[in-house]
Amino acid sequence: MSGHRGAGRYAPSPTGELHLGNLRTAVLAWLFARAGDRRFLLRIEDLDTGRVRLGMADQQTADLAALGLDFDPPTLTQSARTEVYAAALATLAGRTFECFCTRREIAEAASAPHGAVPRYPGTCRDLTPAQRAERRRARAPALRLRADGAQQTISDLLHGTVTGTVDDIVVRRNDGVAAYHLAVVVDDGDTGVDQVVRGDDLLPSAMSQAYLARLLGYPVATYAHVPLALNPGGRRLAKRDGAVTLADLVAQGRTPVQVLGLIAGSLGLPPAATVAELLPVFDPARLPREPWVVHPASVTS
Ligand code: GLU
Repeated sequence: MSGHRGAGRYAPSPTGELHLGNLRTAVLAWLFARAGDRRFLLRIEDLDTGRVRLGMADQQTADLAALGLDFDPPTLTQSARTEVYAAALATLAGRTFECFCTRREIAEAASAPHGAVPRYPGTCRDLTPAQRAERRRARAPALRLRADGAQQTISDLLHGTVTGTVDDIVVRRNDGVAAYHLAVVVDDGDTGVDQVVRGDDLLPSAMSQAYLARLLGYPVATYAHVPLALNPGGRRLAKRDGAVTLADLVAQGRTPVQVLGLIAGSLGLPPAATVAELLPVFDPARLPREPWVVHPASVTS
């Protein structure tokens, strides 16, 4: 499936319309991939069924196409890959443990900086068989990776060499569905993704995902965790911040090419009629390292 060339990818969750920050990350992922003569793949990350919205994957795909991003096959849809994930989980037998904690219990037991994903505090790591049997009566367990405090180093095109402690990440949710981390790693591995470009909110997950990739026999990718878009209040950009989706901006009279120009400008690149025109001027070393603060007023003027 992987072919000879490596690949990059953009992997949106179809939970809402893509906003300017998401679109900018997609443009960057395309530029990084194509500048390295890589294939570029789309992946629909729809395992979080409670948040997935009907028709949103098509809408997102249309928005990406309107900006001129082209994708190579295959496009994976995670909800169709249950058996592939089950096979990967089976190979992890002996390296996982059952965890009965709720999100809230973990947040209370772990001390995490405000807003950060708390590290797993180890609550269920060493339960006895009797304790597990007892807890199973009240709640179905998730499966967590037994990482044993391993260290993992990744190479990031913007952040350099980053080393961190691997967390005991969830690999199977307590509803039996493959967890996000497992699906990402298996999908990237199966499609020959050797370059992962995504928002820098996911940098802390990269060490755990790279470790999991190695356990599953996949090569570790190179990463580029790119700055997020923020609203003027310094919070992560969201739809409620104003006209921030392609549809909003088009409704206000902008063309997709103008929106591409806005994104190019935010990257320190000149306006261009197509993403391909940005390729010769794209220089990862000169990318802004700070978040992009979007002022919807200036966007909408
Ligand atoms: N689906 C994730 C998101 O929309 C991205 C995961 C990834 O790029 O690894 O935030």
